[in-house]
Amino acid sequence: MRKNIVAGNWKMNNDLAMTESLITELKKQSQTSNAEVMIAPTFTNLWHAFEALRQSNIEVIAQNMHFAESGAYTGEISADMLKSVGVQTVILGHSERRAYFNETDDLLAKKVDAALKNNMRVIFCFGEELADRKSGKEETVVEAQIKHALFHLQADAFKHIILAYEPVWAIGTGETASPEQAQDMHAFIRKTLSKKYGDETANTVSILYGGSVKPGNAKEIFSKPDVDGGLIGGAALNAEDFYSIVNAF
Ligand code: 13P
Repeated sequence: MRKNIVAGNWKMNNDLAMTESLITELKKQSQTSNAEVMIAPTFTNLWHAFEALRQSNIEVIAQNMHFAESGAYTGEISADMLKSVGVQTVILGHSERRAYFNETDDLLAKKVDAALKNNMRVIFCFGEELADRKSGKEETVVEAQIKHALFHLQADAFKHIILAYEPVWAIGTGETASPEQAQDMHAFIRKTLSKKYGDETANTVSILYGGSVKPGNAKEIFSKPDVDGGLIGGAALNAEDFYSIVNAF
């Protein structure tokens, strides 16, 4: 059985006071749900969020990390640092990291290795740009992103990897992939995994969809057989909206 997961990526939003108040609201909304729930606040608020959510079923995760153990990397954060504030899962490869911080597949492969070596779970993001889809290259692009960053791994590693398909054209634009477009791509991703690692591995990896998921469209997207949850941006900044997405499972 694959896990259903709904993760809120807060991006560069919410200072300490806003983090506190959003967590208070989230705790009011959270009951038992059919999905694992995660939130990714900014680095500076991780410890506070972890403490505030200790007794809850909301996991606090990170938005990024560096591949090195420690050293002269001004401004960067290591796996050890994340673990020391209670973080066990990290988002890697978000399209905003790729686009604005020049993160390449090679760099991401190193980050994935570092996270796994530190016994962390990875939410690995990828997705095509609008021009790729317009020219019918979305599958080629997605396949290359997955292969370059992940296909050096052994099958066992995929127990610790969650995939997140986020078409760049759907992020923060209000334009969602249709449930059918999401399903088609998720099935393709699973087939790509299966070709390399076999059905058993492919069928146990959770594949999340991200890109303008809202309370109004979550149910239909999540109803698709290969969509195992969502990575939520804008709608994760409001507790009621976020939980209405979580409860779409
Ligand atoms: P939006 O939900 O705001 O489109 O963002 C999606 C995303 O990038 C999650 O990582």
